[in-house]
Amino acid sequence: MNKVQIAEKLEKTLERLDPREIISLAYQEFGEHLVMTTAFGYSGIVLLSYVKDTLPQLPVYFIDTRFHFEETLKLAEKLKSEWKLNLIYLSTGFTENELKDKLGPKPYKTNPDWCCHYRKVEPLLDAFSEETVWLNSTRRDQSHTRSKTRAIEIDGRGQLKVNPLFNWTKDDCWNHIRKYDLPYNPLHDQFYPSIGCWPCTHPVDEGGSERDGRWAGSEKVECGLHLNGSRQTSQITTIPVKKFKGD
Ligand code: SF4
Repeated sequence: MNKVQIAEKLEKTLERLDPREIISLAYQEFGEHLVMTTAFGYSGIVLLSYVKDTLPQLPVYFIDTRFHFEETLKLAEKLKSEWKLNLIYLSTGFTENELKDKLGPKPYKTNPDWCCHYRKVEPLLDAFSEETVWLNSTRRDQSHTRSKTRAIEIDGRGQLKVNPLFNWTKDDCWNHIRKYDLPYNPLHDQFYPSIGCWPCTHPVDEGGSERDGRWAGSEKVECGLHLNGSRQTSQITTIPVKKFKGD
């Protein structure tokens, strides 16, 4: 069965299940190929709370861009220790000097797409194989670019993704966090609805959308990790990924 057939077979079932059941069924289907990624935002905390109870051994990847807020790094370590997460840090193999030579002194200002590529996309693709199935906390209500998120989908690179929170709202997530008194990034209380690297993350005025605080003032809304895909193989956009290691 190819990935499209697998997604079609599972979707009708997955979209009727709650996140805990989705995680269990995904593990039944994909076993060791299933991994999660998170940047420890509030949706990630919700998904991790289910993972820790359902599948505590699941590899959880955190991409350390070297530009995370201290609050994010502290939360990652706290949850690794208290929730016994199988947390794996991924980072670019380039030194800061090598990145400076390639992209200049402040690439997040002058060349954010390539900055994201070196610091986020490439480390993740290095960790993924063709068979990896990606569990993540993407939700439809986060932005227009995520509004068609499905319970299971194939992204623009052909990677199978399972999104247990696909139809959760921001309020659903915060209700869950409050109900179970879960820890979360304190920056959320300072008007940061979505938290990434400090140079590209800003507080958002009340009423603003969740992703408004990311790359504010530019057209950029996604770092390149989440590429829109399709269920039809003929419509999958193949994004050429340049490999830089060994340049
Ligand atoms: S979010 Fe900003 S600082 Fe982080 S990798 Fe992307 S461009 Fe660079």
